[in-house]
Amino acid sequence: MMTSIEESINILSSFLHNECDVEVRLEESADNAYFPSIAVVEIDSSMGLEEQYHTLLHEASHVILHPDTSEEHAWLFAEKIVENLNLCSLTENFLRLKKESIQSYSNNKLQEKTHEG
Ligand SMILES: [Zn+2]
Repeated sequence: MMTSIEESINILSSFLHNECDVEVRLEESADNAYFPSIAVVEIDSSMGLEEQYHTLLHEASHVILHPDTSEEHAWLFAEKIVENLNLCSLTENFLRLKKESIQSYSNNKLQEKTHEG
């Protein structure tokens, strides 16, 4: 039977808790980020359930790959986690989120560069 999105979020949260000592907090208007200094991943619970799942997968990748902070690596690694933990299959929404996130990250980098010196 296929793992549901709810189950996948629970499995991921338990995995981060048990294997990485990182706590997942689902809170309204949270930042969608991993905070290594306090060992917390925050996910915005006002997003749709599937987007919460995809975002948690991405942040879980940051936890595992830390201190490698590459956005591209984290998105690629998310797909491995799905396979290894047998989680809910990824849809085209995941690919869209991945593409948009990498794009906005590159745009920010570009802006930083053009404001340097
Ligand atoms: Zn990221």
